[in-house]
Amino acid sequence: MSIPAAATPDVMEKLVSLCKRRGFIFQSSEIYGGTGSVWDYGPLGVELKRNLKERWWHSMVRARNDIEGLDAAILMHPRVWEASGHVSGFVDPLVDCRNCKKRFRADDPKIKGTPGAPDAQCPACGMKGTLSEARQFNLMFKTFMGPLEDTAAVVYLRPETAQGIYVNFLNVQQSTRQKIPFGIAQIGKAFRNEITPGNFIFRTREFEQMEMQFFVEPGEDMKWFEYWKAQRMEWHRGLGLAENRLQFHQHTDQELAHYARAAFDVQFDFGGTLGFQEIEGVHNRGDFDLTQHQTFSGKKLEYFDQPNNRRFTPYVVETSVGADRTTLAVLVNGYREEIVEGESEGRTVLGLHPSIAPIKAGVFPLVKKDGMPEMAHRIADDLRSSLPVFYDDSGAIGRRYRRQDEVGTPFCITIDGESLTAGTVTVRDRDTLKQERVDAGQLRAFIGEKLAT
Ligand code: ATP
Repeated sequence: MSIPAAATPDVMEKLVSLCKRRGFIFQSSEIYGGTGSVWDYGPLGVELKRNLKERWWHSMVRARNDIEGLDAAILMHPRVWEASGHVSGFVDPLVDCRNCKKRFRADDPKIKGTPGAPDAQCPACGMKGTLSEARQFNLMFKTFMGPLEDTAAVVYLRPETAQGIYVNFLNVQQSTRQKIPFGIAQIGKAFRNEITPGNFIFRTREFEQMEMQFFVEPGEDMKWFEYWKAQRMEWHRGLGLAENRLQFHQHTDQELAHYARAAFDVQFDFGGTLGFQEIEGVHNRGDFDLTQHQTFSGKKLEYFDQPNNRRFTPYVVETSVGADRTTLAVLVNGYREEIVEGESEGRTVLGLHPSIAPIKAGVFPLVKKDGMPEMAHRIADDLRSSLPVFYDDSGAIGRRYRRQDEVGTPFCITIDGESLTAGTVTVRDRDTLKQERVDAGQLRAFIGEKLAT
């Protein structure tokens, strides 16, 4: 039995340190002083994020016959971003300080006075009258394709993965012979030159999205919108995110993008100063995107409804979730510090859903003698072909448990004296701390069954 210790409202700082210490997440280019709001995933982090993406891919693509997968390129024809509205519309109003050269969003509450006016004060250096008037700043990263660095060679790093799906709508539909309603899903990197990034991996300049566009007949869109809203909330619950930390936020008229017919965010309570924040957007985008691409490319992107012998431009219901932001959500959701009854030392636990835990089982010989390490090695090697496991024989058994608890390993297998004679081992559950004796030959099935739930 374990007793929760005092509530830790803002675990972000503790998580940043745990993530670095245990190899989940490192600051990018750290030895050079770091790159602003860009992060690298270490050995455990890459497993965690990959497992999360796998879970999404499985539920959205593999387990359904009405969604197809896609992996479109990051670099796209520049006209794509004119058609999508990103060249003209993906902007934030910014002000510069002429003294300290720092940049702020014009609506930054820390700015005192009106930017551009003599009394306006820079929130960084404190000088008055040095802030420029607000001007529009595009959030897309620009680069050049080919040998010439001129305006004709400008390309963008995609700020979202969705456009790769729209421009391939007919390629996918015709090659798979899918009938409407059907969807196209993809996971990939997106880039945004965010002005106020931060909060660890919550808002970064390079991140991964998991997006699905569902193409439906006009008039059926609200029905599918409701369907996908419910499905996606269920997916987050299935990931183990606590019920009371999840909520919907409906976009108000002011928040609604000009093309959107309806939009809801799935929000997660990150605690501390962040509170409830968007982790996923579910949007009814109407026929805006396909119509724009038809206009800009001059190519028809219509669906031919054979039984009724008619053509139409489908409406789109989009689900768009950040892989990194959801990774942060599962870390925040799972982090807890506990006092264990009967033990003097407390423990830190990452209560990750077993399916996404980077290591599924720790394998420990009780002592480093009497044939226990040999048997433990055999068990670890056998399990490793199907599950990521970690062999550890250093330090007291309690310390080894703590090390695995801290990285979210759901099971710890201990090989003791009885193992050598009876062929059984103990399996300790990370959350209940209960230990069960299991036949060593049944371990794979035993753990496999628990992971499947
Ligand atoms: P926000 O309002 O937080 O900037 P958004 O409304 O611009 O988000 P969308 O364009 O709807 O976000 O993107 C869908 C998802 O992609 C978001 O719910 C989030 O999980 C993720 N995402 C967007 N921008 C970032 C970012 N800069 N860093 C990490 N994840 C992001």
